[in-house]
Formats: sequence, structure tokens, C-alpha cells
Amino acid sequence: MNLKRVKQLTGILAVVCALMAAVTMATGSTVAGVLMVVPMIALVTVHLLYWRCPHCKQRLSRNLEHFCPHCGKNLPDWTEL
Ligand SMILES: [Zn+2]
Repeated sequence: MNLKRVKQLTGILAVVCALMAAVTMATGSTVAGVLMVVPMIALVTVHLLYWRCPHCKQRLSRNLEHFCPHCGKNLPDWTEL
């Protein structure tokens, strides 16, 4: 999975989490609250497993530079992601 796909997927999961949190607060539904954990776990899992440098496979920070802080190689241009 490339970084662009990871960024898209984590964005979608974050929106789903926010929507489920809103539903949980609006309805007070315990079921919605429990189900909210699923996209949350998916979000954290995807981030931990795939938010990595495509060259050295080290984990990247959320605020990316143009170069990997571990190996120094070029990362994709974030304006294109
Ligand atoms: Zn690297």
C-alpha cells in the first residue's frame, strides 16, 4: 500500500470515527459507541502498519518532510497526495 492510499484510507476512517462519535453523542446509543471502536482500531492499525517510508520501511511521523528522517531518501510530494 503506497503512502497516498494510506493517507486516503486513514482520512476516510477518521471521518467514519467522527460520524459515529456524533451519532453516539446525539442518540446516546451504546451500540453506536461500541461500534465506533471498530474504525478507530482500523485507523490505528493502518497507520502503524503502513505509514512507513517506502525505502527503509521505518515509521514516519504525521508531519512529513520531503525526505525520510531515517534514510534521507525522497518521499512523495505531499502537495500531490
Ligand atoms: Zn526511509
